[in-house]
Amino acid sequence: MNKLIVANWKSNPDTLSEAIKLAESSDFKNVVIAPPHLYLEQVGKLIKKASLGAQDVFQKDGGPYTGEISLSQLKDLKVKYIIVGHSERRKHLGENDEVINQKVKLVLSGGLKVILCVGEDWPTRRKGIIAAKNFVANQLKKDLSGNRKQEAGSGNLLIAYEPIWSISTSKGNRIDTPKDAVEMISYIKRYLGSRRQILASALYGGSVTPKNAKSFLSQANIDGALVGGASLSSQSFKTIIKARDSI
Ligand code: PEP
Repeated sequence: MNKLIVANWKSNPDTLSEAIKLAESSDFKNVVIAPPHLYLEQVGKLIKKASLGAQDVFQKDGGPYTGEISLSQLKDLKVKYIIVGHSERRKHLGENDEVINQKVKLVLSGGLKVILCVGEDWPTRRKGIIAAKNFVANQLKKDLSGNRKQEAGSGNLLIAYEPIWSISTSKGNRIDTPKDAVEMISYIKRYLGSRRQILASALYGGSVTPKNAKSFLSQANIDGALVGGASLSSQSFKTIIKARDSI
């Protein structure tokens, strides 16, 4: 079984016609394409092999929430995966662990797959790997708090470990090493295992590029990648898929 690659397009591209072209060239098996909400319908109609993902959902399903997108609306568009708790939403939209927890529970109880993003900032990482693990454990504890048995055991939970300092858009970003990424992902798996949360996959995210994709994806404990910037060029995305398929 191939490892899962999730393409997080963020607020790109600028036009629907570019989005259509990018989706056509990114339509591979074991790939999730997460375009901006605005393009979900058209992208969903044209992809044949990839699955459709959303970059967020509102924490309450339907109602008077101006500007928000509901779980039912995403389901209606055949969205299968929803990214929750991305560090950019935590930072720019003030999403806290309480809100993220509500979103995780909503998605899981609705029967969709949630990709929960966790990861430490640089001031924390600078203190060392133990501080980083504590930071991530604290996020997991809060974000998954109160998950009922059927949600925890649904097999619909994916974690994306994204150290904020290695995401391509973070200032002065540094690249994580596969060895350190494996150490953190193994820790996350042990942490969730001890709390009976069934994990479908643990992905690595943070400047995965055509150059380094193989070095991360060839690690046994890394089940796939969440790719931001490099998913916006059909050439680099294809190269990442090729690297994955060669493992
Ligand atoms: C992300 O922000 O989810 C991400 C993985 O970005 P990039 O690949 O550009 O570092």
